[in-house]
Amino acid sequence: MSASSNRTPNAASRKPPLVKSSAIFFGLTNLAAVTIVPYWGIVHGYSAAAWIAAAVLLTLGGMSITTGYHRLWSHRTFKAAWPVRLVLALFGGMALQNSIYVWAARHRIHHRHVDDVERDPHSIKTSFWHAHIGWMLRHWPTSEVDFSQVRDLEKDPIVMWQHRYYWPLVWTTNLGIPLLLGWITGDWIGMLLLAGVLRLVASHHFTFFINSLAHTWGRRPYSEDNTAVDNGAIALLTWGEGYHNYHHAFQADYRNGIRWWQYDPSKWLINVLAWCGLVRDRKRVPNFRIRRARLMLEFTRLQRRIEQGAPATWRERLDQELGQFRDTIGQWQVVQRRRVEAGADALKDRWARTEMRTRIKELEYRLKMQQKRLRALTQSLEPQAA
Ligand SMILES: [Zn+2]
Ligand SMILES: [Zn+2]
Repeated sequence: MSASSNRTPNAASRKPPLVKSSAIFFGLTNLAAVTIVPYWGIVHGYSAAAWIAAAVLLTLGGMSITTGYHRLWSHRTFKAAWPVRLVLALFGGMALQNSIYVWAARHRIHHRHVDDVERDPHSIKTSFWHAHIGWMLRHWPTSEVDFSQVRDLEKDPIVMWQHRYYWPLVWTTNLGIPLLLGWITGDWIGMLLLAGVLRLVASHHFTFFINSLAHTWGRRPYSEDNTAVDNGAIALLTWGEGYHNYHHAFQADYRNGIRWWQYDPSKWLINVLAWCGLVRDRKRVPNFRIRRARLMLEFTRLQRRIEQGAPATWRERLDQELGQFRDTIGQWQVVQRRRVEAGADALKDRWARTEMRTRIKELEYRLKMQQKRLRALTQSLEPQAA
């Protein structure tokens, strides 16, 4: 993942011109966040109301980006009623990360061409800085917006309304809400500095971490096809988006953290909204497919290690496991075929439905146990690899 591995010397030496407005804006807000904000706090202190407002607005903005901009509009992983979409569009706009229409167009390109320095808008292969913020500071050809990616979103009147009135919305929310709260509480400056400036700067960097840190620091349990990684610490800062390796492997899933203990408040919010009847059609990748991806990667890693030199008995064990793995997948494909052939009517038959579900559960369990055996095999290779 070196900074210049994929770039030609020519491209590296000729940087595109600065986007002056963005450079000045990011420069000033970040500077204020590390100078005026702490200065005012030390000299005058901040009211509890200002801290609470900053935390609430940070949460609303951040989760509107992850739940709305990302999982709802960019990936269409669930459907939401219009009041939910309106709130997500308003507070997502307040996070100042462009309109939904532009954001989703770039994000879909990021998934399609991830790590490609010529096409990914914020490729980590260009540099960590570029992926984090640099891509917005210059007129990079990769930052051009291709609206042909988001024709489906044109059917959503809230998306198009937000795109049309994006700037008035940005100003009204970012200045209007802190000023209104300042008027109510009497702490004008505290509200402007904490709920205005600090909240916006923190919200920016938390989202930017998904493009920078979540493509750098962590594990890759599901796929080695790209740089996206899983990291629980990053999830804490990004409203659950730190399970980025899973997300790039299964972008159609409304969840990023799939285990109950994984920190994914965006998923929890979607679930709560679904229980309230405001969200429907949540898409989940079947457990079997998730396990299959993990196991395939573990087999590849084991094979790699065995190729580096291992006794014949290990190779035999691995071949045996691979045979069983293929057999399990074959059986699962048969069940899937049967399900399609049976059609919707047969699935109304309770016995047939339960029988099919039992079969799938059995096959999932087989993969689970196989994963345990592979772990044991990996661990027993440990001393020999050392
Ligand atoms: Zn995504
Ligand atoms: Zn990514």
